[in-house]
Amino acid sequence: MPWCEGCSRFYNPNSMAPDGTCTNCGAFIADPPEGGEHAARVPWHFWIMVLALTLYLGWRLVQGLAWIAQRF
Ligand SMILES: [Zn+2]
Repeated sequence: MPWCEGCSRFYNPNSMAPDGTCTNCGAFIADPPEGGEHAARVPWHFWIMVLALTLYLGWRLVQGLAWIAQRF
């Protein structure tokens, strides 16, 4: 449960400011709740996976086209 030292009160994650600070005194309390700006940020290794998948599918497409071309 997030707790603000300055205001001596507990916070519900949804009642904090979107950046995880106290709406009363502005002190940082806890990490922002899920679904916030930070949760939308995609980790870098996700893009490596997307790139690898794109290269793989592109290569398979080339192979498929070459296979089709050989039959005619
Ligand atoms: Zn406070």
